[in-house]
Amino acid sequence: MNILFASSEIFPYAKSGGLGDVAQSLPAELKKVANVYTFMPLYASVDRLKYNIRSSDFSFDIPLNGINHQIDLYQKADNDFEFFLYNPVLCDRDSLYNDHYGEFGDNQLRFGLFSYAIIETMLRLKLKIDVIHINDWQTAIVALLAKTKYSLRQKIVFTIHNLAYQGIFHKSAMNELDLSWEECFKSDRFEYFDQVNFLKAGIFYSDAITTVSPTYAQEIQTPSYGHTLENMLLANNHKLHGIINGISYDVFNPLDDENIYKHFDKESYDLKLKNKIKLSKELNLGEPHRPLFIFIGRFTPQKGVDIILQSLHLLKDFEINVAVLGNGDNYYNAVFAKLTNKYPNIHIRVGYDEEFARKLYAAADFLLMPSMFEPCGLNQMITMRYGGVPIVAKTGGLKDTVIDYTEHYTKEVGVGITFEEYNLFWYMHAITKAISLYSNQKKYIKVAKHNMGVDNSWKHSAKEYMRVYR
Ligand code: ADP
Repeated sequence: MNILFASSEIFPYAKSGGLGDVAQSLPAELKKVANVYTFMPLYASVDRLKYNIRSSDFSFDIPLNGINHQIDLYQKADNDFEFFLYNPVLCDRDSLYNDHYGEFGDNQLRFGLFSYAIIETMLRLKLKIDVIHINDWQTAIVALLAKTKYSLRQKIVFTIHNLAYQGIFHKSAMNELDLSWEECFKSDRFEYFDQVNFLKAGIFYSDAITTVSPTYAQEIQTPSYGHTLENMLLANNHKLHGIINGISYDVFNPLDDENIYKHFDKESYDLKLKNKIKLSKELNLGEPHRPLFIFIGRFTPQKGVDIILQSLHLLKDFEINVAVLGNGDNYYNAVFAKLTNKYPNIHIRVGYDEEFARKLYAAADFLLMPSMFEPCGLNQMITMRYGGVPIVAKTGGLKDTVIDYTEHYTKEVGVGITFEEYNLFWYMHAITKAISLYSNQKKYIKVAKHNMGVDNSWKHSAKEYMRVYR
């Protein structure tokens, strides 16, 4: 089977969150049984030298609305399966989708162009492709183009990683991207309250839709989680599949992660402590033997940052240490930045820092993940892989990957502390449960080691994707 896998971000070249991780690790697993061609934009931030990415001397123009947009193809010196597409409008920015002023105003052109370029490259290079797998709104227009303008024979699989981000733009994008009003500008297709909605087009025009956990696949068909597209999803649910994400067990491996202080695995679990002691000292957190709670993630309401903020002035009096790493909405960045040096037992860092994130995972006893909604979530799986215990709201993929330690559990699924209702009371209740679990070290270590043994790799889920492709 030959698969074209397109994503607006792929780790380690570019990553803003879970999509980047998945776009690296899922193709890596699929490559064991299929030919997988990956496509991403060659952003200015991609380190061409480090990854040996070179021009392949292949360029073409995409004429759209009276303008010729030139696309240049880049590839790695030692790899024919990874494609990087360069165009100045798409790529020459400091970040992927937005900066501190907000979303870029021309994202519809940038990612519309990327979608055209993916199809054009496939056709011009005569790549033999059976299935085109696209991800989130940024590549959703591939489905629309494939079924309308290009009438491609390839099947289209569309994965929704987060329904909250839909790519909604002014309808002038119709002409800008040279699309047929008659065919596409309809309320069950691309039109959305007299605007255009890229994600909607992906839902309508793809042959199969997947989303990143079985629970989220159900949730998004309801008004509470559907972000106004629940009826659209209900109408298309005959082609909707919920497949839980995995994580790369090569990228996230405490036994050889070069970012962490001391390597360890389940057998040498005691060594994990050295990571906590060293990091706590470095961060000037008093009493490094206290339980360490971490949060890593985008500062958006989705991730439960309001509850986290509400809790900090309570947690300052607890005999625990807390470390927070994140960035996101301007408002939250500013509020967290103000708290940076406020409490001696709470370390806050505003920013995006892969290396620091790994140090935190290696050191943490508990992960805080009080998400309002969570399509899948990778942090809880990474935490378990690094011998920690996640504290999660029972929603989406968190519900599918974490069972409360007081309930019956088997070796197939991770264990943590779960809470049902999204509010400060139940969140604090979960934290006190965590402290009580930690005070019984024998029990805590049993749970932590159990988590290290759980298989959250792509082994099972990649098979599910192969089944959908077939
Ligand atoms: P998202 O909703 O952001 O995609 P996921 O849980 O699916 O959330 O994936 C988040 C990924 O991004 C994880 O690998 C996590 O460690 C990483 N991450 C999130 N925020 C940061 C940050 N500020 N610095 C470093 N890594 C981060």
